Amino acid sequence: MAKRDYYEVLGVSKTATQAEIKSAFRKLAKKYHPDLNKEADAAEKFKEVQEAYEVLSDENKRKTYDQFGHAAFDQGASSNPYGNYGGFQGFQGGFGFDDIDLGDILNAAFGGSFGGRSSKQSNRPIKGDDVLYRMNISFKEAIFGTKKDITLDLTDKCTTCDGKGGFNETTCKTCNGTGKVRRQQNSLFGSFMSESTCPDCNGTGKTFERKCTDCKGTGYVKHRKTITVSIPSGVDTGTQIRIKEKGEAGINGGPNGDIYVEFNVLEDEIFTRDNHDLYMHLPVNIADAVLGAEKEIPILDGSIKLTIPAGSQNNDKLRIKGKGVPYINSSKVGDLYIVLNIVVPTKLDKKQKKIFEELRDSDLENHDIFKKFKKYFSK
Ligand SMILES: [Zn+2]
Ligand SMILES: [Zn+2]
Repeated sequence: MAKRDYYEVLGVSKTATQAEIKSAFRKLAKKYHPDLNKEADAAEKFKEVQEAYEVLSDENKRKTYDQFGHAAFDQGASSNPYGNYGGFQGFQGGFGFDDIDLGDILNAAFGGSFGGRSSKQSNRPIKGDDVLYRMNISFKEAIFGTKKDITLDLTDKCTTCDGKGGFNETTCKTCNGTGKVRRQQNSLFGSFMSESTCPDCNGTGKTFERKCTDCKGTGYVKHRKTITVSIPSGVDTGTQIRIKEKGEAGINGGPNGDIYVEFNVLEDEIFTRDNHDLYMHLPVNIADAVLGAEKEIPILDGSIKLTIPAGSQNNDKLRIKGKGVPYINSSKVGDLYIVLNIVVPTKLDKKQKKIFEELRDSDLENHDIFKKFKKYFSK
């Protein structure tokens, strides 16, 4: 089934502000929330709305979506050794029903008390933090794609204590296992009881007889990891790809966060780029420009036969179809423009000088530009 456009799903324009997007999401999430809407396709619609919101409410994801559409997030699994990483993975319906953040998100959006199971438990699974990695790549690598290794220090579950933080779990004595401590506070308005998270067990209600020294009781350690990034052909400065669930470790069995790799494409001496079109500045000698020429010229991948028309002017552009930058995840390719840089010779040998002198004596000014100039001053 074809995926609906995210803007269409939320019923907002392409230029909608974040406030408009949020407002549209709130309305639709309320309308389709399965606790409130018992229609059969409500769940499906709710998921669709969430997914659209997750992308459009994040300026980076929105930018990527605007540029590449669904294709930016839907690339299938690749053959790299890191399993489910496929460069651009789908967002998997954002925070789906099975996702523990649902209640929190709805509570934040509506200020109410949606979904009981999420907000109260302190030991609920939480997805790990996302990591942003900025990578410089060469002009050519951006066009043709490549694989690169990146090295990151990422949190990982401590294997010594299996992420628990210690050994021989016991009930916390400070809070008697409730995870909360109450204390009486006196203020100008009288005394009242305040409740806060137990500082000794951080609200879990459990402590350990012996703390794990490897992770200092946190249950997590930093590990240096090398990850191979498959860079699709056609990326540009600012393009982000997502490596799903390879980021910081999740908490309480939650999935790892994602790694976002953002590219910065380095400049090239000969080529420049405008989205999917490439520009190459080709030096052309004055005789070829005047007389025209057929030439084999090198380009980024191989060479082409180029016809320079007689009478070519400086900065004339010759278009070579399909030799530009590939669109990401598509067979479409932009064009190559060859910009003629006509070079006036600065060093002439005797023979060349003689030829130019002969040329000067001929009528070289039989051209509209000369006529126009003379006419202007003859008034
Ligand atoms: Zn405690
Ligand atoms: Zn440990």
